[in-house]
Amino acid sequence: MKGVGAQTFRAQIFKPRTDPDSFQGLGLAGLPILALLKRETGLLLITEVLDPRDIEKVCDYCDILQIGSRSMQNFPLLIEAGKTGKPVMLKRGMGATIQDYLSAAKYITNQGNQRLILCERGIVTFEGYTRNTLDINGLMALKDISGFPVFIDPSHGTGRREMVVRAALAGIAAGADGVMVEVHYDPDSSLVDAKQTISSEQFSELMEKGRSVAEAIGRSM
Ligand code: PEP
Ligand code: MN
Repeated sequence: MKGVGAQTFRAQIFKPRTDPDSFQGLGLAGLPILALLKRETGLLLITEVLDPRDIEKVCDYCDILQIGSRSMQNFPLLIEAGKTGKPVMLKRGMGATIQDYLSAAKYITNQGNQRLILCERGIVTFEGYTRNTLDINGLMALKDISGFPVFIDPSHGTGRREMVVRAALAGIAAGADGVMVEVHYDPDSSLVDAKQTISSEQFSELMEKGRSVAEAIGRSM
């Protein structure tokens, strides 16, 4: 993935799962693995935090903190993440309006931390064919009014492997500043979210086509 242009490695030791009986991640026991990933790949590392009490420990191992959709309005978590001064990627709550989202983001920036990345990851609608509905309108609105970089997550935004590359390209065309995708060398054997996980080949395709789309709108990747 690095070879075709990936810049940041995302790996999570804390998984916010809807069902408490499903795999919760390795927890702090996974920290040495994060350190190894960073060392071996030389890529920036982003990882999710769920609990303000873990932030300090996790900060020693990552470059960017991720706050997930389910935690978007966990205000004590946002405040503690803001205080670290590290870049924070705050994902949009699946049921949050743009206004709710920007208000939540202020809990981070009010700590004097302007190193914020927003991420549109799909919202819940009446539609069940896709896991979520990727809100391209929302992405454009955030680009227009927030002043912060806005990423797109077509993996959670669609929940369907066959749509991920096309949804990513739509996001790039609409002005996304970054794309976050879930990739596995053998997607069907992925322990989490296998249905939305793309292969290395699909990732290469995304990077290649993404470059053309970015160029078409006067940007580069
Ligand atoms: C994730 O990024 O793996 C994740 C759980 O996403 P979200 O918080 O958007 O559901
Ligand atoms: Mn996931």
